[in-house]
Amino acid sequence: MEFIEIKNCYKVYKNGVTALADGNLSIEKGEFVFIIGPTASGKSTLLKMLYREEKPNKGEVYVGGINVVKLRNSRVYKLRRKIGIVFQDFKLLPKLTVYENVAYPLETYGLKGSDIKKNVLKALERVGLKDKYRSYPHELSGGEQQRVCIARAIVNEPMLIVCDEPTGNLDPDTSKEIMDVLLNINTELKSTIVMATHDKEIVNRLKKRVISIKDGIIISDKKKGKYENEVDKNIES
Ligand code: ADP
Ligand code: MG
Repeated sequence: MEFIEIKNCYKVYKNGVTALADGNLSIEKGEFVFIIGPTASGKSTLLKMLYREEKPNKGEVYVGGINVVKLRNSRVYKLRRKIGIVFQDFKLLPKLTVYENVAYPLETYGLKGSDIKKNVLKALERVGLKDKYRSYPHELSGGEQQRVCIARAIVNEPMLIVCDEPTGNLDPDTSKEIMDVLLNINTELKSTIVMATHDKEIVNRLKKRVISIKDGIIISDKKKGKYENEVDKNIES
């Protein structure tokens, strides 16, 4: 079994919208994968399946050997500890410092104070923000805030990092910096990264695996993909 397996998955929301129809996908450990597609095509839904924010109506999902669909609610925290999540809107806690925001997910783990400090500073160093550990989110630029979110996502050295349009609110130069940070983490921590985006420039420049989804249907999956609009261009490789 691959590191991530999605098998014959359907997600129909209560309002009748089919956000995923017969989704099939496997991703190896350590891969960097883009999920692309227009707004409302089902990208976020696909990602939510991985961290059990949504359950499929039908089908199977495995992450790192965990049967995600069958996982009891009381065990979901165990899955989440292995997954770092980065969103478009930073979701930092405004009253906490950079340091405290990054330390936050570790506090429930029962780690020693000195270990928490070591891990937090290491994560901040990886994203190039160690010197701002005392700052508050409102004192940081958008790019810096996103770096804090990435630090928070990796503080636990997760096996998987899920990024949902992480550059959606950033200008092109800042987006490039954020991508450099994510690529470094993929190389150094060997975390698998699955990133939803509709940023053509990023996808075309990086030549990573590209999975394209439209109206809830996975329409192409290419090893060194590009962002194309036409379906037929996506099918050839
Ligand atoms: P994307 O991330 O590509 O923009 P989403 O996965 O967010 O797409 O949404 C796919 C479709 O499912 C859209 O039509 C959206 O309106 C619908 N949808 C998403 N979440 C919900 C929800 N919680 N309830 C009802 N419909 C939803
Ligand atoms: Mg989305």
